[in-house]
Amino acid sequence: MREVNVQDITDAVREMAIDVNLHLSEGLVDDLAKALEREESPLGREIIERIIDNARAARDKQLPACQDTGTAVVMAEIGQDVHLVGGDLTEAINEGVERGYKEGRLRMSIVGDPIRRVNTNTNAPAVVHTFIVPGEGVKISFMAKGSGCENMSRLKMLNPADGEEGILRFIEEAVIEADGRACPPMTLGVGLGGDLEQAALLAKRALFRAPLGAPNPAGHVADLERKILARVNATGVGPMGMGGRVTALAVHVEVAPVHISSLPLALNVDCHAHRHRSVEL
Ligand code: SF4
Repeated sequence: MREVNVQDITDAVREMAIDVNLHLSEGLVDDLAKALEREESPLGREIIERIIDNARAARDKQLPACQDTGTAVVMAEIGQDVHLVGGDLTEAINEGVERGYKEGRLRMSIVGDPIRRVNTNTNAPAVVHTFIVPGEGVKISFMAKGSGCENMSRLKMLNPADGEEGILRFIEEAVIEADGRACPPMTLGVGLGGDLEQAALLAKRALFRAPLGAPNPAGHVADLERKILARVNATGVGPMGMGGRVTALAVHVEVAPVHISSLPLALNVDCHAHRHRSVEL
């Protein structure tokens, strides 16, 4: 059985926490540049240009691309033939978050209790999801999730009879309601099927798909992604909610088997920063 020391996971989380906040991915910046060609609104174009300038300035000056450096969301895929040694996995992840946010001089945004609301001053704990997968690999994915966009996320137990139009309308209405508060151009993660919590997790996992805009391998799901993207970009919300054609850069839909009388739909909204990375150990 392969052994992986959790210290390596701490180091990986620390590096990703700093990296995602200081360096918006080149692929994302390229996609924003391509969006300029589609945006007809002069103000919308100017906003996209400023977002690109801001991303480049953050990279050059080694500063966070946004003041909200986010909730640390970690997806840990652990091979079932791996033995984790050297400590507790969750503690290791949280140590990586704390070190990354302190050493990267990133804003601490987490309160330890939703009622008392006292800052932990470490940005830990992270929201951690673990998955046992076949093999000897360990894949750690990290996302810095801003609250502006997370707060615009939605979940609804649709009726199967609502069908495709019900799905499209729910997402369209959520995006219109989000308006500029989700800092568009957005990326939308959609979870469809399973039960209430599985749909929500599918939607978050959908945001980790790379590269941005890669279609779901199932043709009928990819068709739905295209329809949602067209519908959302027809709302006119536009960059930062100032009007325009480019409201979303991409829509990723993940699906799961579901009860005959259920249609759970979760929408996880991400902002233009779309900060995530993965490493394999
Ligand atoms: S939603 Fe995104 S871009 Fe807007 S403030 Fe939050 S992290 Fe920054």
